[in-house]
Amino acid sequence: MDKISIVIPCYNEEQMVPLYYNEMQKIQKKIENVKFEYIFVNDGSTDKTLYEIKKISVRDNNVKYISFSRNFGKEAAMYAGLKNSNGDFVVVMDVDLQDPPELLIEMYNIIKEKDIDCIATRRKTRKGEPKLRSLFSKIFYKIINKMSDVKIVDGARDYRMMKRKMVQEILKVTEYNRFSKGIFEFVGFNKIWIEYDNVERKEGKTKWSFIKLFKYSIEGITAFSTTPLVISALIGIIFCIISFVMILVIIIKTLVYGNATSGWPSLVCIIFMISGIQLFSLGIIGEYLSKTYLETKNRPIYIVKEDNLLNDKKEIK
Ligand code: UDP
Ligand code: MG
Repeated sequence: MDKISIVIPCYNEEQMVPLYYNEMQKIQKKIENVKFEYIFVNDGSTDKTLYEIKKISVRDNNVKYISFSRNFGKEAAMYAGLKNSNGDFVVVMDVDLQDPPELLIEMYNIIKEKDIDCIATRRKTRKGEPKLRSLFSKIFYKIINKMSDVKIVDGARDYRMMKRKMVQEILKVTEYNRFSKGIFEFVGFNKIWIEYDNVERKEGKTKWSFIKLFKYSIEGITAFSTTPLVISALIGIIFCIISFVMILVIIIKTLVYGNATSGWPSLVCIIFMISGIQLFSLGIIGEYLSKTYLETKNRPIYIVKEDNLLNDKKEIK
């Protein structure tokens, strides 16, 4: 009998937890000879999410949970879940049913039949998403794929089924600034993509504000590419060359026509522009430096407040 560990990050999802569990029970019945192990990761929810999870865990011995001491973000939650999974196959899945549970059956069939380590999913469409958000995502994928060595597929979800071996390798990537979409690609292994139409969230609302997404995209770029540093260095070189040419022009002009004091406005423009570029480059360097700073501190990726991984306690607090 195969065991599938399902890692489910949850942040303020009190409505979704029971709905999700019910849907998954239906799927479980449709796959034969497979045992599901649920690993709910409560990412510091401020609502009744943990209570809802505990309620299920009392009924079902295969429901495990890890509860963080505060909100550490989805990346940390996924890492914690993967770390505590031990199934032959591991699935990462959102609790909001935007990752269609039926695909699990398809994934399992493919992974059993073929010599494939990972079945990943991507959204074909972004139906139901704000237009501006889709546009920015498109730009982000263009930029990141130009800059970094690992290729990230547009519309790729975290929803995927992986073999144990691949999960083991992912866990070896212990960086603090985690960008899972990149890490999944970074570890390699052979994978198949399956596509589906975007599904809208059943209850609750998305945890991703525009600012959060923007930060996430900067994370993605800096975690897997140092090209921005090269770009700022290149701009520096180009401007050095331009300034040399300008100096030459000014010297020759002064020798030929004498010294007429003019050109104040252009001087101001140039100063503005150069200082702007300097600050921009400093910003890029700062971004990498701050990442290095956080990595060297070696802080834990997440902190667990409580879990039921070992004990099968039957009471709800
Ligand atoms: N999530 C989390 N921690 C966070 C934000 C989100 O664990 O800080 C979980 C959330 O509960 C959900 C999944 O990550 O299961 C995806 O979040 P959401 O649906 O808000 O993202 P979207 O689908 O809009 O990209
Ligand atoms: Mg969602």
